[in-house]
Amino acid sequence: MDYLFDPLPIQSVAVEGESHRFPLRRIFCVGRNYADHIREMGFQPEREPPFFFTKPIDALVQDGETVAYPPLTENFHHEAELVVAIGKPGADIPVERALDHVYGYAVGNDLTRRDVQFALRDRGRPWDWSKAFDRSAVVGTITPSQRRALSGETRIHLSVNDEVRQDATLKTMIWSVAEIIAALSNSVTIRPGDLVFTGTPAGVGPLTPGDICTVSIDGLHPITTVIGPRE
Ligand code: MN
Repeated sequence: MDYLFDPLPIQSVAVEGESHRFPLRRIFCVGRNYADHIREMGFQPEREPPFFFTKPIDALVQDGETVAYPPLTENFHHEAELVVAIGKPGADIPVERALDHVYGYAVGNDLTRRDVQFALRDRGRPWDWSKAFDRSAVVGTITPSQRRALSGETRIHLSVNDEVRQDATLKTMIWSVAEIIAALSNSVTIRPGDLVFTGTPAGVGPLTPGDICTVSIDGLHPITTVIGPRE
């Protein structure tokens, strides 16, 4: 096949214990999946069905990279998240079978232009410009689920310049990984290469140039992101 110009390279994430990388297809994200975070955003938690937004796959940022302070915002936020890597296609997947579609897990940071998000939200407009901007999806090395099990006691943790900002256990998620995959697959077909950000606990907050932001989940590979000046 001949193209008018060189297509973009495939975006991919490293995998623990593998020489081959995980190539990306789509990035899905769940909104409002920890009760304390819903409260800090100004809402009362209720068990409404999970809702999703997306990021472009070329928004991917690898562990250790610098992210320039993005345009359009004066309130650039971190969101520590568990990321699920999908390894098997499916649609209308029942909750009981949903974990069969998981390839592995990674640590993520759903970088957010919070002031833009609030302005869009207040006008009832789509969230895209607050979530789906360049270099907004930090994802670390994937650990295959066969190698490492997660539990409700598994801790998710984020610090900025060694100050703890977010610290929670996975059991405080409103919707479990299996329930999220089942709900997502009711709306779209999921395929290998999909990543699903599963929401952030309380404690989201601003990042400024010079900050070093580290996210970790027990048993998974941590990620560190340096915030650079606005370009
Ligand atoms: Mn998020």
